[in-house]
Amino acid sequence: MKRNRLTRQSNYIKNLSDTNAWNIKYRYISCLILLPIIIFFLAYSSSPKLQDDTLQTQVVELPVLLENSSHKSISFHAPLTSESDFRGPSSITLNSIFVKKTNDAKDNGQDIFTGLLKASRHSFLSWDEVEVRPGDNLSLIFPRVGLSAKDVYLVTRLDKKALGPLLHLKPGQILHFGTLIKKDGSISLEALKVVLNPIETFHVRKVEQVYQAETIKLAVDLRQKQITGKIDSSLFEAGLTAGLTDKVVMEMAHIFGWDIDFALDLRKGDHFKLIINEVFVNGTKIDDGNILAADFTNRGKTFRAIRFVDSKNRGRYYSPEGDSMRKTFNRTPVPLSRISSRFNPNRKHPILKTNRPHRGVDYAARRGTPILATGDGKVQFIGTKGGYGKTVILSHGGKYTTLYAHMSRYKKGVNSGKRVKQGQIIGYIGSTGLATGPHLHYEFRVNGTHRNPLTVKLPKAEPLPKRYHVEFKAQATPLITQLDILVDTTLAQGE
Ligand SMILES: [Zn+2]
Repeated sequence: MKRNRLTRQSNYIKNLSDTNAWNIKYRYISCLILLPIIIFFLAYSSSPKLQDDTLQTQVVELPVLLENSSHKSISFHAPLTSESDFRGPSSITLNSIFVKKTNDAKDNGQDIFTGLLKASRHSFLSWDEVEVRPGDNLSLIFPRVGLSAKDVYLVTRLDKKALGPLLHLKPGQILHFGTLIKKDGSISLEALKVVLNPIETFHVRKVEQVYQAETIKLAVDLRQKQITGKIDSSLFEAGLTAGLTDKVVMEMAHIFGWDIDFALDLRKGDHFKLIINEVFVNGTKIDDGNILAADFTNRGKTFRAIRFVDSKNRGRYYSPEGDSMRKTFNRTPVPLSRISSRFNPNRKHPILKTNRPHRGVDYAARRGTPILATGDGKVQFIGTKGGYGKTVILSHGGKYTTLYAHMSRYKKGVNSGKRVKQGQIIGYIGSTGLATGPHLHYEFRVNGTHRNPLTVKLPKAEPLPKRYHVEFKAQATPLITQLDILVDTTLAQGE
């Protein structure tokens, strides 16, 4: 638009000068006089909001793209300074950052961006991208775009907390540098951004010669989706057929893992119904959210779980009656593995060929598969233990102990006396000690006596606290209704 006006103006000058009454010298002088006037006029007429020397602050509300309780609308303050040692106002930084979003915004909200664009007079920022290499830090990265140690110093003067993502750069991350070339030829850093994930972008920008940082979150839209599936061979295959990601399949296995041993109990014809959240940004699905409610029918028995988020923002799964889906112990330490040998007090040992009771359960899985602590506890023993090979023994509040043998290696940080959480990785499948192939030998003892890990009665985890009952019921009822009416289409097709 500016360019058009300039063209029109120069055509006008040209027309004037073409008349014979103007000699060359006079034309030259008149141009010299007119040019600054035109520039002055253009500069100020195109940004009527800018006052001579007053500092304005404009609150910019990013568009709330989609309505949902979980979204966050973002606002920031964009100081519009009229003068600095650059040729343009520093507000251009903001405009440049959000130019792309202008294109993405599809509703009325985009007027805000175009408004901001109009408010800027010039856009001199040039953008450079730098990929973070292993071992990189700001002092190594800044010189790659022509910035100095002084720039690093000025940026890192921000307090540590605000600087967060810049202090923990990961290889492969892209840093976007917005720079200006100043009158003296030196480069000035005006803006820096790092895309942290599809939702969050970390921004540093220069405002009145001081850097400010913030993480900007895009509005997230959670949409519910209903899915049904039927087991043909494995849970993962059924999940794949139903269009589930591995993440959702794993979550489902976790939720029902206390009641259903997916390595042992799964049968052809078992089926499930899920209500999950899908995460959308700007109308595009970027991830799967949590499972909100789920049914799993195993060998004719249906288990049902509803997610509830408490006041500490912890999401847990409960039965519709408010009983925890968790137990103090997981039934299996290697989810989705295959049981290769069961608890058998009268078994012949496969290598020694003598009558050796098998006091645990063997889970065969690929070497290196993670082994998870079945319950919260403390590391009582870690080390090599004869035929057991590399072994970890956990004690769980005195009465219970669990043993994990034949590991290829231990998880880093798992040391004697250390506390571990249920589901935490403690080591990896291997075949150390007396083992025919890679597997985990798992034992469960109650007061020192070996019990069958597959059948021993496990203590239940705490139910939903009473103070949450009303809230839980309000959340759970519509989900339960949805599950009830959700027709299992795969089941109908298959029969
Ligand atoms: Zn064994």
